[in-house]
Amino acid sequence: MKQRAEPAAGVLYVVGTPIGHLGDLSPRARDLLIAVDTIACEDTRHSGQLLSRIGSAARRCSFHQHNTRTRIPQLLLELEGGRSVALISDAGLPGISDPGQELVAAARELGCEVISIPGPCAATTALVSSGLPTDRFCFEGFLPAKGRERRDRLVLIASEQRTSVIYEAPHRLCQLLNELFELCGEERPLQVARELTKRHEQQVGPTVGAARHYFQENSPQGECTVVLGGALPIEIESLSDTHCLEQLLALTTEGMSAKDAAKLLSSRIGRSKRELYALLHTMTEQAD
Ligand code: SAM
Repeated sequence: MKQRAEPAAGVLYVVGTPIGHLGDLSPRARDLLIAVDTIACEDTRHSGQLLSRIGSAARRCSFHQHNTRTRIPQLLLELEGGRSVALISDAGLPGISDPGQELVAAARELGCEVISIPGPCAATTALVSSGLPTDRFCFEGFLPAKGRERRDRLVLIASEQRTSVIYEAPHRLCQLLNELFELCGEERPLQVARELTKRHEQQVGPTVGAARHYFQENSPQGECTVVLGGALPIEIESLSDTHCLEQLLALTTEGMSAKDAAKLLSSRIGRSKRELYALLHTMTEQAD
């Protein structure tokens, strides 16, 4: 099939670049990055190495989370003027936990054509080699670093029945595994993909407990993507007060607060968390 000539005037190209192995840059991405007018890079110095290697002399400009507001209008002017623009990030697909989404939305709003040149993405690369279900999955990206927001997100992830994919910095990986241990239990399937496509690529699993134990002994280094198996569906007939109470007690015995246990069970079975909290409270009062 004959392909359209690239780059075309006034088009924004969202280009995937390697997440480690330089051989993963596709021939199409390479040709585009050589021929395009302007390349918006998350970090011009970082991407400079890749661009010099392929012999790209295209104009480069920085595009990162701190200059988005000023850069977007400039890049839109270029597109309106008929120049072609490529957007790349430090690694992987721009827009996936990387800057890009706002530029793409602004370009579309202006009526510009946006074309994706697909390439590696840590989330899908980790997912497909994890052995966990890939038919339905959720991408969680980076979780809030701390506090209530983090806790709330984790509680939702713990009750999610689809596979979840999480990006985590190595210095927080052990904390994340401890939190998942508390909320999901040690047997929940999990795979940590470390340094994907690089020399020291490694997969650690197959459960929350096993990965937690491994990283307690071996300090996490390099880039990590966590793939967590989904929660088992709760059967409708098991939703009597007695069964709810059993599950609440199991969660609190594992160290969870009554409030968090009620919230977690509520997100799993759809019963009000206030009701569940009251159930647990009445039971503990009776025991006193
Ligand atoms: N846009 C990128 C993509 O498409 O995957 C993601 C960028 S995000 C700022 C960086 C995070 O992605 C890292 O903290 C890590 O969680 C994950 N990641 C990136 N490269 C990786 C690799 N080679 N192995 C494992 N995880 C990786």
